[in-house]
Amino acid sequence: SIRAPASKQTATLQVAVKCRPLTDNEQRRSRHIIQVIDDKSVVVLDPDLSKDYLDLIQNRTKERSYTFDHVYAPGCSNADVYKNISSTIAGVVHGLNATVFAYGSTGSGKTYTMVGTHSDPGLMVLSFRTIFDLIKKDDSPDTFEVSCSYLEVYNEVIYDLLEKSSGHLELREDPVHGIIVAGLKRIKVHSADRILELLNIGNSRRKTESTEANATSSRSHAVLEITVKRKQKGQYGSQVLRGKLALVDLAGSKLTRILKDGLSGNSRTVMVATISPADDQYHHTTNTLKYADRAK
Ligand code: ADP
Ligand code: MG
Repeated sequence: SIRAPASKQTATLQVAVKCRPLTDNEQRRSRHIIQVIDDKSVVVLDPDLSKDYLDLIQNRTKERSYTFDHVYAPGCSNADVYKNISSTIAGVVHGLNATVFAYGSTGSGKTYTMVGTHSDPGLMVLSFRTIFDLIKKDDSPDTFEVSCSYLEVYNEVIYDLLEKSSGHLELREDPVHGIIVAGLKRIKVHSADRILELLNIGNSRRKTESTEANATSSRSHAVLEITVKRKQKGQYGSQVLRGKLALVDLAGSKLTRILKDGLSGNSRTVMVATISPADDQYHHTTNTLKYADRAK
C-alpha cells in the first residue's frame, strides 16, 4: 500500500471552541458567563469580579478574549461545526488521514458533540454519513473497503470496545503502520448505520458511561477509527490508498500516544474544545481555553 501523493500532505490543526447552553437545572442556579463576541472570539466573565451582571458586561474589556479558528455559540448545532470540517472528512476517501477530537471537562459537551442526539446528530454520525455517501456517489472504477475499530483508554490501560470482554491491549511500534494497538479488533462495515450500531455497543462497554462519577469519566478516553481502503486499478496494475479517520472523546489534559500518528505529517487534526457557560465551571472553562489556545 502507498501513501497519498506528497502534494496533498498538509499537516494542519484546526482549533474550535463550542459552548453548550445552560441545562434546565443550571438555568435555576447558575449564571451564564460566556460571551461569544463573533464567530472567532469568546470572552469568559470572571464570576468573582462582581456579582452584578450588568456591571460585569460593562467591565468586559478587563476580561481576556480568546481567538480561535471557530467559536460556536450555545445556539449552534453539531451540523454548524461539521460544515467547517466536512472537507477534512472527505479527504479520508482519497487516502488522507484526519483526527477529530473533543476536549473539555466532564459535563462540558464532548459526548454531545461527538455522538449527539437524534435531532442534532454529532460529528461521528455526520462523518460516517459523508464517507458512505461519497463512496456511493464515486463514479471511478475504484473499489472501497471500510473497516472500523473502537477502543477505550481507561487509567492508561487500553481495552477493545468491539470485544465482549476485552483484556488489556498493548501499544506497539510497527515499521509500516507506525504506532499500533496489537490485537485490536477491526470490523468491516458497509453502512453508516452499522458503524453507529458498533458505536452504541462499544459505548455500553465503556467503563464510565454507566456511572455518574466525574472522577472516573475524566480518566476515560475513547478512540473510534475508521479506515477507508481505496483500490485503484491503473494502467500499471492496482494500488491501494488508505485513509484513516480517528474520532476521539478525550478526557483530561494529556494527549495520548495513540494520537501521535494523527498529529503528525500526513494528517489534518480538528480539536473541538467544549465549554459550559455556567459560572461554577469558570476554572474548568478557563483551563480548557488556555489549553486550546496553546494547541493552536
Ligand atoms: P461530557 O461528555 O463532556 O461529559 P456531555 O456531552 O454528556 O458532556 O454533556 C453534558 C450535558 O449537557 C448533557 O446533559 C448534554 O445533553 C448537555 N448538552 C451538551 N451540549 C449540548 C447542546 N449543544 N445542546 C443541548 N444540550 C447539550
Ligand atoms: Mg462524555
